[in-house]
Amino acid sequence: MLNVVLFGPPGAGKGTQADLLVQKYELKHLSTGDILRNEIKNKSELGLKAQSYMDSGNLVPDRVVIDMISKKIDNNMDVKGFIFDGFPRTTTQAEALDKLLDEKCIPIKIMLSLTVDDEVLIKRLIKRGLESGRADDQNQKIIENRIKEYNKKTSPLKDYFKLQEKLEEIAGMGSIEEISKKIHSALDKI
Ligand code: AMP
Repeated sequence: MLNVVLFGPPGAGKGTQADLLVQKYELKHLSTGDILRNEIKNKSELGLKAQSYMDSGNLVPDRVVIDMISKKIDNNMDVKGFIFDGFPRTTTQAEALDKLLDEKCIPIKIMLSLTVDDEVLIKRLIKRGLESGRADDQNQKIIENRIKEYNKKTSPLKDYFKLQEKLEEIAGMGSIEEISKKIHSALDKI
């Protein structure tokens, strides 16, 4: 299976690039943010647990997202691979994902890390908030908290995947096509 971690701060373009990868490589896109927003929309127990964390731009507890992703993997074992978008976000999540995938002998093949300057991220997120109506994209304080959470808890995961020789850094500024070309050539090397 071609299992890819699509990594980067909020606003790095992970969702956009994931959509393009799904078309080209027939992968299943698993975005924990999208799954959680759907749970909130459906007013499920999981959604209720996650909402206050998401509203303030904090990370949802590890156990909640790990159980959620584990079920999604189990329910989609017929695909050619998974794109993990917005997951893992902490070392605990990364270790849990490795364990889940190792048990099934379908390890992560590559971590594609999109790098974008903080000022560009904030501008992109505010624009996205105006267009999409996403509540956590509409308030500069919440946006800044999400970027802070990323820098503190998530960014260190680059070293985790680097140690496994899976890290591929991709400059996430430029046109969507330019970035996707760089991603394709990284994947074609595997
Ligand atoms: P995203 O759509 O990836 O920007 O995620 C939106 C929000 O969902 C984040 O600010 C977190 O509150 C929550 N979230 C998404 N994925 C995770 C994760 N892997 N771990 C913890 N919280 C998450």
